[in-house]
Amino acid sequence: MTDVKHWIDGRETASTGSTQPILDPSTNEEIATLHLGDASTVDQAVQVARTAQREWAQVSLSKRTQIMYRMRQLLIEATGEIAEVISREHGKTVADAKGEIARGQETLEFATSITQDLKGGFSENVSTGVDGYTFRQPLGVVAGITPFNFPAMVPFWMHPIAIATGNAFILKPSERDPSASNIVARLYQEAGLPDGVFQVVHGGKDTVDALCTHEDIAAVSFVGSTPIAQHVHATASAAGKRVQALGGANNHAVVMPDANVEFAASQVASGAFGSAGERCMAVPVAVTVGDIHEQFLEAIAAEAEKLTVGPGSDPATDMPPVITKDARERVIRMADEAEQAGGRLVVDGRGLVVDGYENGNFVGPTVVTDLPADHPTYTEEVFGPLLVVMHVNNFDEAVELVNSSRFGNGTAIFTGSGHYARRYQEEIEVGMVGINVPIPTPVGYYSFGGWKDSLFGEHHAHGPEGLEFYTKQKAVTSRWPHQEEHLEASMSFPTHD
Ligand code: NAD
Repeated sequence: MTDVKHWIDGRETASTGSTQPILDPSTNEEIATLHLGDASTVDQAVQVARTAQREWAQVSLSKRTQIMYRMRQLLIEATGEIAEVISREHGKTVADAKGEIARGQETLEFATSITQDLKGGFSENVSTGVDGYTFRQPLGVVAGITPFNFPAMVPFWMHPIAIATGNAFILKPSERDPSASNIVARLYQEAGLPDGVFQVVHGGKDTVDALCTHEDIAAVSFVGSTPIAQHVHATASAAGKRVQALGGANNHAVVMPDANVEFAASQVASGAFGSAGERCMAVPVAVTVGDIHEQFLEAIAAEAEKLTVGPGSDPATDMPPVITKDARERVIRMADEAEQAGGRLVVDGRGLVVDGYENGNFVGPTVVTDLPADHPTYTEEVFGPLLVVMHVNNFDEAVELVNSSRFGNGTAIFTGSGHYARRYQEEIEVGMVGINVPIPTPVGYYSFGGWKDSLFGEHHAHGPEGLEFYTKQKAVTSRWPHQEEHLEASMSFPTHD
């Protein structure tokens, strides 16, 4: 059994405090032991980071870029190793894990263009003999706190940009699947990144709270559930930090009467049941419009029944287990409550048992319809393979229903009509919109972020907004008069002559 330790100052560092088991979601057997940090672990990492960051910020842009290129190559070579580790700890299939690593790689590629993106502005003669210019500087030591569902991709939304712009980064990954982050730390070291610029501190609430309040941490990026996003946003903001906190989601896919039903159903099924519904851009709600409802239910039931549920290590698996016993029980309870409230279970995965994995966190694809719009199984984030199908009469009602959600992460519309697609993208109060695309996750060189209770703070993640988040602008006004030139200073506020 392996011990997963912190990565501080370029080496594995054991905890002086407590440990916690890491469980295989397919069996609930203990597969590793995680060392948990506390305020003193955080302080140790921050002190190392402060020294490392001062030197790192002096390293030329081209040398930083070269390290990012080497890191990209090492990540490609290590994709198989990282994907296996993610699959073992998270439960998702190896192919799915490879997909998230490839999406993380996009942000690394964006970070290799830092020489271009960090160019400032320059205006000659803003006043006679006076020039004005701006450039962006790193914040210092910054922290990232990430969720279990994308143990590679979500941290990669943060650290490549933070590091390439000259910051030192401390990552606190999820305690459920922490090992991928230690591999990434090793790869950065092999790529030539100085020790202390990327560090990993493991732990739970104590570690998170210490990161949010440490006086030498300038900014905190968080991705996770809405209640913790609100807590992190409030705590770190009160401590004077820049904060971006991405929260939960309840993404709706609207299926218009003119949609190709088979296509829409297969796309919604991949969004609802892929990775057991544990994606922030999953599609846990479909909204059928007009007379397409029963036809869609038949098509989605056929899609759900095609899926093979099993452990992520089995190449035949389409849908893996959910992360914990509690997560499984929550999905089942929410399906039970839906049924008690008069909901119709079109597909019922509650009783599913996978042969040989009787103790795993498996629950089959489940489809519920005929739920009132205020039922918690519809309004709350389930974060499991449970699809709620709502029904409305027309496009306007669909927009109203989607906009009534307190979440605003992603949404999709399935239609053959450019008119309704265009109206949807305009009227919907959601940060990321797919048109005939179920999981509209922006590529690495755009930014990712939701609205409403799906994001707290000003900046979306990665891409141009990530670059802005991890840097601050400096504006310089300069004059170089000849030594013998005597310029009288005026007592009036300066104007530009
Ligand atoms: P979570 O909120 O439980 O945990 C996220 C992080 O916060 C982890 O590192 C965890 O250790 C820490 N944490 C947990 N409880 C804490 C507490 N009481 N105080 C301080 N820190 C605490 O989320 P999760 O279960 O790991 O991930 C699933 C959630 O993340 C879902 O709600 C999903 O929608 C969301 N998510 C959102 C996005 C997005 O882009 N908006 C992306 C991925 C996941």
